[in-house]
Amino acid sequence: MTDLYAVFGNPIAHSKSPLIHAAFAAATAQDMRYEARLAPVDGFAASVHEFVAQGGKGANVTVPFKEEACRLSNRLSERAARAGAVNTLRFDGQEILGDNTDGAGLVRDITHNLGHSLTGQRILLLGAGGAARGVIAPLLAEMPAALCIANRSADKAEALAAAFADIAAVNAGNFAKIAGQCFDVVINATSASLSGQALPLPAALFAPGSLAYDMMYGRGDTPFLSQAREQGAGVLADGLGMLVEQAAEAFFVWRGVRPATTALLAELRRQLAG
Ligand code: NDP
Repeated sequence: MTDLYAVFGNPIAHSKSPLIHAAFAAATAQDMRYEARLAPVDGFAASVHEFVAQGGKGANVTVPFKEEACRLSNRLSERAARAGAVNTLRFDGQEILGDNTDGAGLVRDITHNLGHSLTGQRILLLGAGGAARGVIAPLLAEMPAALCIANRSADKAEALAAAFADIAAVNAGNFAKIAGQCFDVVINATSASLSGQALPLPAALFAPGSLAYDMMYGRGDTPFLSQAREQGAGVLADGLGMLVEQAAEAFFVWRGVRPATTALLAELRRQLAG
């Protein structure tokens, strides 16, 4: 019988996940179906339970349900517990396993697809929301020289740094705090690009040959990548690769098979440009 999977979000019509997982399933000969499901803002848990009752084997979770999915899970992977958010659910009898593959997806895109090692690098993470929280432990696992978090609201950045202090010392503050500092990797995990807003980035932030990475993606440069280009970043990348890699990691959690991503990422890139 064909196994059923879905992505839950609100809104969800724009999601590329059904296309990505259909391509993975075809490439790995897995007998599965994957659909997008719109959950009411106040009805996420009910939607998931209904899906399980229909035979659902697993799901992805996107905005605004990642924290709620964490609470709905009765078993959490270590990385999901650390992130305080779940983007991947696996249903097995009474068990709802909550996992978070966003950080693994980001790290894989940077280190494997872009070929930029994070080891020994000075990393700046912009933003202190759910996306930032989810990637901190995986970034620290790469043994950077330093990790700094800068956010519009300094208190949120400081709280995040404190939450990961048992793994490594993380510097945190507002954008003024990073003035005069220079980084090898700058990752934008704010949602400022969504509203087309520029970030108050201090001058001389990007070291020669540095990587500027925006978790957001779209046609052409995002506002953050335009800023980074003007300020001399060496390599620019958007979050399309992260999207594909977090999906591949979720696919592995469900099916125990790791799909290849290179050709699909190139195809999605072509579609985005066209
Ligand atoms: P949240 O709403 O949880 O956090 C938003 C963050 O952006 C906060 O730190 C907020 O600062 C900051 N922010 C918002 N507007 C501005 C602004 N105008 N100037 C400066 N800072 C601003 O969002 P998420 O963490 O869930 O998502 C962040 C981004 O990451 C989104 O663009 C999302 O699409 C992307 N993403 C991409 C993924 C991928 O696979 N490519 C996966 C997950 C997320 P403050 O605390 O001060 O309000």
